[in-house]
Amino acid sequence: MKALVVVCDGLADRPLKEWGLTPLEKAETPNMDELAAEGICGMMDPIAPGIAPGSDTAHLSLLGYDPFEVYSGRGPFEAAGAGLPLRKGDVAFRVNFATVDENLFLRDRRAGRLRDGGELEKLLRGIKVKGAEILFRSTSSHRAVLVLRGEGLSYEVSSNDPHRTGVKVEGIRPLGAGGGKTARVLNEFIERAHEVLERAPFNLRRKRQGLPPANYLLVRGGGTVPSLEPLEKKFSLRGACVAAAALVRGVCRLAGMRVGEVPTSTTGVDTDLRAEGEEVRKMLEESDLVLYSLKGFDEVSHDGQAARKVEFIERFDEHLPLLRGLADFLVLTADHTTPVEVREHTADPVPVVVVGPGVRRDEVKSFGERSCAKGGLGRIRGRELLPILADLMGKSRKFGA
Ligand SMILES: [Zn+2]
Repeated sequence: MKALVVVCDGLADRPLKEWGLTPLEKAETPNMDELAAEGICGMMDPIAPGIAPGSDTAHLSLLGYDPFEVYSGRGPFEAAGAGLPLRKGDVAFRVNFATVDENLFLRDRRAGRLRDGGELEKLLRGIKVKGAEILFRSTSSHRAVLVLRGEGLSYEVSSNDPHRTGVKVEGIRPLGAGGGKTARVLNEFIERAHEVLERAPFNLRRKRQGLPPANYLLVRGGGTVPSLEPLEKKFSLRGACVAAAALVRGVCRLAGMRVGEVPTSTTGVDTDLRAEGEEVRKMLEESDLVLYSLKGFDEVSHDGQAARKVEFIERFDEHLPLLRGLADFLVLTADHTTPVEVREHTADPVPVVVVGPGVRRDEVKSFGERSCAKGGLGRIRGRELLPILADLMGKSRKFGA
């Protein structure tokens, strides 16, 4: 038996003042409603009631891990999403290429939204600092990741990002007992990187073109790489994921799942759903469970665009029949609520439906935040979803005699 878990990032919402309905309730979604009618519905607290999740912690929870236990920061998941080979205990950070002037005053936090830092990455890879091995990778536009490997390292250090321009960049300071060495290594690396970046032909070209040079590294979001019990061991399911967000791919990679390719030319509400669906089909061939995480809903929610959210929900609904026949079980849910009127993640539970052989079909006939609250699944937590699914798939082991 195979299962497809479709996670719509930020799909869930609250009723809008103007409509009295959520975007999901407002949208015409005959295919989602059909799933609701055929399956068992419920509400899910992605992490726990009252906890507003990030997409990383929510996906950890959906895969059956306790984010309070394994999560210390976003860095490791970004680094894993970028494909860096990580080891337990490595400390990873998110990095911005930024612009400073000759007095180290911050001029641009994103170096003019640099398009690609690949040429700079090569130069920075040559920098060695005593006390730790350093891995550096440019990811997308002005973003990069930095990994420290060695003895006595800690993620408990401050960021050097003042979060506003016109002020001097800060030094990295230890925040906890073990942060001293890490702060020293990072400060030395950042200083050496600044020297290298100032002389880089790439930046000399940018200066000639009147563009802000990418001559400084802002470091934040540190975390220790956790050792996650592989999904396959936890649930006896060979898992894979198809996810537009590198952060989610990172979570899945650290959970030992295979990671599919997604087209990056179109993203957000312009996502090529057909191409992603094709990748899901391919990944299911050699997996028992595929997690398909869609972006788009969350972005328009952060931008407060209710009508566009409805539009994308309807477009996704039209596409849903293509995903229907790919696996025995289909789960449709969200990783968290992002109300368009709040423009941030909130802790409201999200609707969930499970369709497949043997499920106890309930009376719910439409897929929505309020309709699903009447469903047979009741209210569950994110961490409980895969155990429930694994049991339906005949993979659970009896507890007791
Ligand atoms: Zn978000």
